[in-house]
Amino acid sequence: MNNSKYVVGIDLGGTKILTAVADMEGEILAKVKRPTEAKKSKDIIFANIKETIYQVLEKADINVEEIAGIGLGSPGPLDVETGVIVNPPNLELKDVDVEKELSEFKVPVFLENDANAAAVGEKYFGSGQDTKDMVYITISTGIGAGVIMDGQILHGADSGAGELGHATLDPHSDVQCGCGNYGCFEVLASGTALSRRGREAVKERKDTMIADLVADTAEIDGAVVAKAARKGDKIAKEIIDEVANYLGIGLANAINNFNPEKIIIGGGVTDSWDLFAEKVERVMKRRALDFLVKGKEITTSQLGSEIGVKGALGVVLLRLEK
Ligand SMILES: [Zn+2]
Repeated sequence: MNNSKYVVGIDLGGTKILTAVADMEGEILAKVKRPTEAKKSKDIIFANIKETIYQVLEKADINVEEIAGIGLGSPGPLDVETGVIVNPPNLELKDVDVEKELSEFKVPVFLENDANAAAVGEKYFGSGQDTKDMVYITISTGIGAGVIMDGQILHGADSGAGELGHATLDPHSDVQCGCGNYGCFEVLASGTALSRRGREAVKERKDTMIADLVADTAEIDGAVVAKAARKGDKIAKEIIDEVANYLGIGLANAINNFNPEKIIIGGGVTDSWDLFAEKVERVMKRRALDFLVKGKEITTSQLGSEIGVKGALGVVLLRLEK
């Protein structure tokens, strides 16, 4: 008799591990958080992960034998098919087989990159619950995306499908992206773009209050630019407008490429989305094909800092359904 009734989800981040246990309906029973110690070693990172699993089971009064599967959301690059974390920039992990590391639990371990996991989190717990085809885009210091097509995660040959952040939006741009290319969606429309444009405006001595809101220009980030715009600063508003234009183009590309029912926006930008929304929608509607964009909505994620762990839980539930 199979008495496995629960799933474990782990959000592995550069600073913390958040682990939760839920029943097969996705009802979360307990959560545990602890530091990742990301720069130490694979053994320490996985000892921390295992510790959170044992703690969360104890908290919810569940036996290890009652677990049906474990979902692990991790920064990429990684290989979903073989369950190998390849070499994420912020974690001391290289070619790590996650099922082998977590073999003492004797259950399947499903690995997923964090943006895809977040998309699944929206599908199971957030505003994507009523959708089959959906694109989740996280806009913070970078831009990442997860694509759900026909209810399944779109992976591609190297588990890298949906890298929308590295679509070239301006071939003439001289702004270099972390990927080495110039003019990527990510460098033109992320929080990093807002802070770069804010600093440039101050350096060029434009008539703006942006510099007055910080002690040092190095502190100018997206939130500072948004704050200045909210106070009526003309230059800050222009920067928001410029970034919103690129966001509209990027989202139109997502609509034309994937034909989603819904686009869900997550990440730091959601705090000031009201400043962007109108322009983004206008540009998106103008640039996407009419029959694809008609009646489609952009919504912002409501899952906050729990999106990763909810996504990891959703990944197990989704994979066990198969
Ligand atoms: Zn790039």
